[in-house]
Amino acid sequence: MALYSDKVMDHFQHPRNVGKMENADGIGEVGNAKCGDIMRMYIKVDKDTQVITDVKFNTFGCGSAIATSSMATELIKGKPITEALQLSNKAVVEALDGLPAHKIHCSVLAEEAVRAAVRDYYDKNGISYGDELKACEGHCETCGHDA
Ligand SMILES: [Zn+2]
Repeated sequence: MALYSDKVMDHFQHPRNVGKMENADGIGEVGNAKCGDIMRMYIKVDKDTQVITDVKFNTFGCGSAIATSSMATELIKGKPITEALQLSNKAVVEALDGLPAHKIHCSVLAEEAVRAAVRDYYDKNGISYGDELKACEGHCETCGHDA
């Protein structure tokens, strides 16, 4: 039985939206200690509609981290911020047709990177947000919290 689905392999070998974004509206960087993944996500936001018009990411990490960040960018591109914030790591894993159980933590990173990028955008634009965005679930290098 193959350990990784075709979709995971595809996104790992041909990641979408890779790169650095100049003049990004929000940048989120998260990491996990378990396999040393570091993920940076850039978003471009249309100020009038609050729609994420472009997404880029740079991930230094394992194949699962790369595949999940790639899929996450696909899932939030062109979506309103409010919708992007609903993105759960579970949805990313489902979109990839699953991940091995011991690699699920890598997908948590993708969800957190999106939230961190939105938080950065909100901070830069003086938009207030609720505690749910301040709290970090799962693995957070900033506060050392580990789920
Ligand atoms: Zn990983």
